[in-house]
Amino acid sequence: MKRRPLLVGNWKMHTTVLDACHLAADIAKTCLGLEDRDVLLAPPFTVLSQVAHMVAETGVLLAAQNVCWEAQGAFTGEISPLMVLDAGGAAAIVGHSERRQIFHEDNVLINKRVRGALAFGLVPILCVGETLDEREGGQTFKIIEEQIRSGLAGVVAADMVETVLAYEPVWAIGTGKTATKEQAQEVHAFIRNLVAGMYEKDVADQIRILYGGSVKPDNIDALMAQDDIDGALVGGAALNAESFERIIHFHKI
Ligand code: PEP
Repeated sequence: MKRRPLLVGNWKMHTTVLDACHLAADIAKTCLGLEDRDVLLAPPFTVLSQVAHMVAETGVLLAAQNVCWEAQGAFTGEISPLMVLDAGGAAAIVGHSERRQIFHEDNVLINKRVRGALAFGLVPILCVGETLDEREGGQTFKIIEEQIRSGLAGVVAADMVETVLAYEPVWAIGTGKTATKEQAQEVHAFIRNLVAGMYEKDVADQIRILYGGSVKPDNIDALMAQDDIDGALVGGAALNAESFERIIHFHKI
């Protein structure tokens, strides 16, 4: 089945307003007229609305880097789905390995975020991935299954088709070590099968599964040529307009 490619730039904790506006404008320029793929930027919360102005009418979409499940209230340090929508966001990254590892977010909390995003009409991008120890210990599929099953608990099929999954092996994030295309494809196929078992094959065939972990201009083409890789979640290389442009304009090889 043909799925529309999705290229996501995760800016993490980088960019002041000025940097963000320049970067967004440069990226938006290269996306004009792109009709066969989606581009989504996830800047820090503080620059989301300025970036929304910069990309208005260009087709570039925006995401928050995390999201709470409540509309408002006493949740210091959090951002609500309504705030994300208000700032121009359409999606939210949830369960990024930096949230799991540094801030100890667990599968239960991450599931609340996924369901919270969906309840307010934001597309959740649920990240999953194993650590190096888990891979070397032969635990990859077990960990991924746990993260997917608990992350998606309570998500109905109609919402699942809108949900994006991202396979990001922790050992490949920000390390310059990319999973080989075969390693990535193997886990992506596993995830699609798992989703087919949890929902229906038709749902699994529709969902987009992104790969993330040191995606660069020189590896994107081979990754995108894999049957079950529908896009990329890019960190470091998305902070440079030229390299992200090359990633956006991948050619399958
Ligand atoms: C990420 O931010 O999710 C990521 C994969 O980062 P990098 O591309 O720098 O490895």
